[in-house]
Amino acid sequence: MAQAIPVTVRDIDARGKRVLVRVDFNVPMKPGVLEISDDSRVRAALPTIELLRGQGARVVLCSHFGRPRGKVAEELRMEPVRGCLSGLTGTDVVDAGGPSGPGPASAAASLAPGGVALLENLRFDPREEANDAGFSRELASLADVYVNDAFGAAHRAHASTVGVAAHLPAVAGLLMARELEMLGAALESLAHPAVAIIGGAKVSDKISVLSNLLDRVDRVLVGGGMAGAFLAAQERGGRAAGVEDTDVAVARELLDSAGGRLAVPCDVVTADRFAADARAETLPAGEVAAGAFVLDIGPETRRAYAAEIARAHTIIWNGTLGVFEWPAFAAGTVAVAEAVAGNEAATSVVGGGSTAEAVRALGLRERITHVSTGGGASLEFLEGKTLPGVAALDER
Ligand code: AMP
Repeated sequence: MAQAIPVTVRDIDARGKRVLVRVDFNVPMKPGVLEISDDSRVRAALPTIELLRGQGARVVLCSHFGRPRGKVAEELRMEPVRGCLSGLTGTDVVDAGGPSGPGPASAAASLAPGGVALLENLRFDPREEANDAGFSRELASLADVYVNDAFGAAHRAHASTVGVAAHLPAVAGLLMARELEMLGAALESLAHPAVAIIGGAKVSDKISVLSNLLDRVDRVLVGGGMAGAFLAAQERGGRAAGVEDTDVAVARELLDSAGGRLAVPCDVVTADRFAADARAETLPAGEVAAGAFVLDIGPETRRAYAAEIARAHTIIWNGTLGVFEWPAFAAGTVAVAEAVAGNEAATSVVGGGSTAEAVRALGLRERITHVSTGGGASLEFLEGKTLPGVAALDER
């Protein structure tokens, strides 16, 4: 079951209140310099921040950034994000310090109505990921209301996503609400024919999403490294590199239960090494040599998948069809992305992570109904799991 939409920030009156907003400012950085390479996550939080500021709320923002594992890491300070957010909002976002200790409390207390403060990286404190009760209370003491707008972190039960919600009125931000609405609609109120495209490196990462979607959609198109497991299960060609016995068993079970609804590539692009400059060879699926790396779907499969996507009324996509980051193995993902964007009559939903990155890199984001901001969170949602950060919010 997908979860119901909780109370949202639109339903409350935040006038004059102190509001703690959990955002997802886990931004990508340029290698070796303290500079943000893509500010989409900061921009995605702006509607909630501006709504609250417009009501004269005092806005205290908090986020994790990278994986400092409970210790201060200089390169993972929130400072570049604070600078970026100050520019985007046209206000001087206050550095609240912390994330624990007296800094955040005094920053929150001295904010003017409409003012914004940003806590230091939540994961500098080991109590964040431990969902520690004391840290949850400390965070709650900064505000009168809690808003969770960090869909990308909603699959984690941490102090700032779950613990804090027990102490305050707890509502969803606008981004969180839109994610739940769009992903929920894609799962629950499908227009048929509905097609899911599932790629990615390994079938073991995608078993749950494959079985949940096979129960709901009319067709599941498989690509990526996991295609090797399905080809082995069908005993077509030699077994590709990295495909374990357990992967083949899972693929066989999924094929058996799918009743013909699961489409497997009829041709693939292979390489003899897992490397960007490996020599690419396009082969019918039955001619793959044992030990070869399956790094993309082939041209026949691209055409067949594009035709199915063009006929669909609902499209759900998670996982690249090949190693998109390497030009020699990107064509399958490009063809699918263009087909999804080209079907403007369909409702199309793209799970986050590398698939969202591919769509963005191709400039196709605006032509897709919804591109999720959450990688792991959108995958767990599509698996039909309850996200702890959503379950912790107040129900309507
Ligand atoms: P996921 O994030 O699980 O959807 O997987 C996509 C990521 O897996 C991309 O970054 C790909 O580069 C990587 N990957 C590794 N091997 C393959 C493969 N054979 N086919 C597709 N993706 C792959």
